[in-house]
Amino acid sequence: MSLNDLAIDVPQAAAGAAAAELRAALGTRVLLRGDRGFDAARTPWNVAVSQHPFAVALPESADDVVDVVRAATLSGLRVAPQSTGHAAGALADTDLTHTVLVSLKALRGVAVDPEARTARVLGGSLWNDVLEAAGPHGLTALHGSAGDVSVVGYTLSGGLSFYARAHGLAVNAVRAIEVVTAEGTLVRASETEHPDLFWALRGGSGAFGVVVAIEIDLLPIAEVYAGMLLWDASRAADVAHAWAQWTGTAPETATTTLRIMNFPPLPQLPPFLSGRSVVVIDGAIDETDAAASALLAPLRALEPEIDTFARIPAPALVGVHMDPPEPTPSVTWHATLGALPSEAVDAFVDAGQIPGVFVQEVRHVGGAANHRPVGGGAIASLDGQYLVHTIGMVPVPEALPAATAAVRAGVAALEPWRIDALALTFIDAPGADRAAAFGSAWTRLRQLKLAYDPANLFAAARPV
Ligand SMILES: Cc1cc2nc3c(=O)[nH]c(=O)nc-3n(C[C@H](O)[C@H](O)[C@H](O)COP(=O)(O)OP(=O)(O)OC[C@H]3O[C@@H](n4cnc5c(N)ncnc54)[C@H](O)[C@@H]3O)c2cc1C
Repeated sequence: MSLNDLAIDVPQAAAGAAAAELRAALGTRVLLRGDRGFDAARTPWNVAVSQHPFAVALPESADDVVDVVRAATLSGLRVAPQSTGHAAGALADTDLTHTVLVSLKALRGVAVDPEARTARVLGGSLWNDVLEAAGPHGLTALHGSAGDVSVVGYTLSGGLSFYARAHGLAVNAVRAIEVVTAEGTLVRASETEHPDLFWALRGGSGAFGVVVAIEIDLLPIAEVYAGMLLWDASRAADVAHAWAQWTGTAPETATTTLRIMNFPPLPQLPPFLSGRSVVVIDGAIDETDAAASALLAPLRALEPEIDTFARIPAPALVGVHMDPPEPTPSVTWHATLGALPSEAVDAFVDAGQIPGVFVQEVRHVGGAANHRPVGGGAIASLDGQYLVHTIGMVPVPEALPAATAAVRAGVAALEPWRIDALALTFIDAPGADRAAAFGSAWTRLRQLKLAYDPANLFAAARPV
């Protein structure tokens, strides 16, 4: 049970006045407890988390967002921006009883400027929306592994893509952010406009306001060599050692992931996955076919059962990691590692067999992801060479404690190689040390939070 499940009622009279205020501001674009559609609107992508907000606002424009923020402030309520709820696990210990959940689902849209190679993306847009708009121009973006994650929620918390080792974190591609602040005003923040706020939002994200649009740089990549190699998990040790060694010399144009995946027998899974444990290497190599094939040769020599690596249209890259296409009840934990020596590989393989571990994953980071560009924001780089990430399924609420223990054990197995850094986007459960994700930026970020949101109006999955 999360703290959100312990919702207590707002005193009746105050609640009535607040509800009236919100209704007056937003009409049917706000749902209150008892309204038809309220339960569906409060349910996040991570359906293991039960959210109980005071109301759910569904703004359709920046003006609607201004109205919500002003009405919530007048009513003494807090505001929690949420686009999809992929990170709802990280919000699970925030009491939302006196909070308006601002669901950005209805605020989607992308305008691409092919000459400037930029996109203006509305606040609730998904990566699929950007790829669909940018692909026809031969452009792509620093998106993550799943197409249904939101652009704002991912990008403003760092954003680790399959291009990260060559192009760095997605957050560094942000040019401007249009945000409704705690004062209830719509502000454009960029390098030259409200530069402190621009710095803080790039990492501070929803703790500083409701973002109604961002402008991002796109990449001139029309096609990419990408895919996955799959073996039975009985090959896990061979494959994991080979991959770890391979990453030691892989160029920055290659960003790949190694996973041990334990699938339950489910009819909706393809037969090659249902009821099986497998080991998978996947990712992208931004090289010519010949160079990418030469690079993959030592891994292909291990004779994978399935090999889908090939040149694909860049928008199809969101398909290679096999992220769940539907809302999924899950819990995760992660750490960053300074190195992955042979003993660490053995520990990783053993951890893949911990009961309750659904996915035991290592992402190869380093390269450009380690470098903080000039003019970067509160988050601009990620220390470490690898990221270990463990996922557990939570099919029923009672499964949460065991799944949480399993994912923490999966990560703890790599403790001797852990460094003091975290990837903010991978903080997906209460209890992680957010300061470790910000490093030396943490103090300034907290000072700016006090300056821009002194009453702590905004509730974020990764609070500042
Ligand atoms: C299946 C899956 C695959 C993933 N793959 C990757 C990956 O490859 N790389 C990676 O780096 N991360 C990845 N993630 C993590 C994901 O990027 C983060 O959880 C991200 O924060 C989710 O953003 P969201 O808006 O979709 O989720 P939400 O839960 O809706 O939002 C998370 C937080 O972002 C802020 N936010 C969202 N929208 C707005 C807005 N419009 N205005 C202000 N604040 C806002 C809020 O503070 C909110 O609490 C993955 C997660 C999942 C579940």
